Amino acid sequence: MHHKTHQQTAILQVLENLGRPVTPQELLQTVRKKSPGIGLATVYRALKRLTGSGEVRKIEVAGLSPHYEHVSRHHHHFFLCKQCRHLFTLIGCVRGVNEMAPAGFQVESHEIILYGNCPDCLAA
Ligand SMILES: [Zn+2]
Ligand SMILES: [Zn+2]
Repeated sequence: MHHKTHQQTAILQVLENLGRPVTPQELLQTVRKKSPGIGLATVYRALKRLTGSGEVRKIEVAGLSPHYEHVSRHHHHFFLCKQCRHLFTLIGCVRGVNEMAPAGFQVESHEIILYGNCPDCLAA
């Protein structure tokens, strides 16, 4: 177990409080409110470390730069807004999704992404 630096702890806390996936750039903006001196390279380094230790998950969606989220124990999926390109965390899953695999296949995981427009973009 590696000792976490103050900056890694701050980054992990910010990710937990945000409760949604963010890009390193978005994360930097929020972390800077707490740690003004922090730079993007430090954020990337911390994310690499925290992803390696299993505390942060990297989310890769086609056409979107990688996002990072705090690993929670709740299984969930995402909604991608086509206009603002924000990823929103959804609650719950689809019943029976793993049963879609034909007999003889063993499912280990699945990903579901809903695409559309978020309320803010619809109102704009
Ligand atoms: Zn939107
Ligand atoms: Zn699911």
